[in-house]
Amino acid sequence: MDVTPGELAERAAKLDALNPLAHTRDRFLIPPDLVYLDGNSLGVLPAAVPAALEDAVRRQWGRGLISSWFDEGWWDAPLRIGDRIGALLGAAPGQVVTGDSTSVQLFNTLTAAARLRPDRRVLLTDPGHFPTDAYLTDSVAQLLGLEVRRVPASQVGAALGEYGRDVCVLSYPAVDYRTGELWDLSAVTRAAHEAGAVTVWDLCHAAGAVPLALDETGVDFAVGCTYKYLSGGPGSPAYVYIARRHHADVRHPLTGWHGHADPFAMQDAYTAAEGISRARIGCPPMLSLLALEAALTAFDGVDLRELRSAGLSLTSFFIEACDLLLAGRGFEVATPRAASRRGSQVALRHRDAARLVPELARRRIVGDKREPDILRFGFNALYNTHADALAAVNALRELTIAVTA
Ligand SMILES: *Cc1c(COP(=O)(O)O)cnc(C)c1O
Repeated sequence: MDVTPGELAERAAKLDALNPLAHTRDRFLIPPDLVYLDGNSLGVLPAAVPAALEDAVRRQWGRGLISSWFDEGWWDAPLRIGDRIGALLGAAPGQVVTGDSTSVQLFNTLTAAARLRPDRRVLLTDPGHFPTDAYLTDSVAQLLGLEVRRVPASQVGAALGEYGRDVCVLSYPAVDYRTGELWDLSAVTRAAHEAGAVTVWDLCHAAGAVPLALDETGVDFAVGCTYKYLSGGPGSPAYVYIARRHHADVRHPLTGWHGHADPFAMQDAYTAAEGISRARIGCPPMLSLLALEAALTAFDGVDLRELRSAGLSLTSFFIEACDLLLAGRGFEVATPRAASRRGSQVALRHRDAARLVPELARRRIVGDKREPDILRFGFNALYNTHADALAAVNALRELTIAVTA
């Protein structure tokens, strides 16, 4: 080993001291002595949330009651908060709305997307996609009489060459939930458009972690949750993006009254609202939505390119520390080493993953495990430090034995 653990600790301290986003850690209520590297599963509680929830419950709900739907802006909250999220996605206002879960949004969006290409029968999706995405893609295909082909994002070009003119929708994650691999949204979207198909991106592991440019990239549809890097809280509502050029044509299967052109006219038949409002369904979970709005203030004034470079500094340092301190201990870095192909998590493979993750938790270091042998460590650059990264690697070193040849 050329670098000693002591030198790595010094490096970590130096990198943390130089981090231009160091101040945003105070925007979160991180339990003392906890190294939390699971913000890609459930983000840390933002400091602004408790007071906002207290106000939402006691004043807005408790005293305002029904009048709060309009006097406190509840009715417009899904759109207002959608625009705030849109700013993190590279989407101009009026194209993002919040509400329901990612699973519900996937169903509504995949169906609506496929209906834009009624003459085509093939839905392309990622064989490693998150289970709910895989299940819902199959379900939508069954309902619409489509065929699902599972093709890795890296092979989409070839697949489109083969049956491109028959592909209606490409449904892909921006970042792989297991390995943390960041796919090339721009290249896949371009290839899809050349073949006349539309794209549905799942941004769950990308939003708030990597800069996105949905408008510029020409993405058609996107969905995502808000409780991972956006730290909106358990079960906080998801969001959906629909590029403005599709607003007039898109027809959703879930035609709820909040998406009606004139919801309070209580008409017998459904007429879709203009614009992104047509993606609304029914009453959103208002308390969660208001908690999410407060949570998003943690991004106020944050330059997303700066956030990205801080995130890459954390994951690069973590990988380097793994290489130096875990050599010969049965670990393999499953995340791409090229920064441009990495989201904001690092996955390690180890045959004892099932033992190591709870052992880490006992030492107050939280990561998680994904089948069959993956240890995941998520880095949210708004609150994680290089010291966190090193603590996790040092603990893994203590928990494993080096096998020397
Ligand atoms: C976290 C995650 C989901 C979660 O879906 P829910 O409906 O919120 O449970 C879906 N897709 C991906 C890719 C995810 O990472």
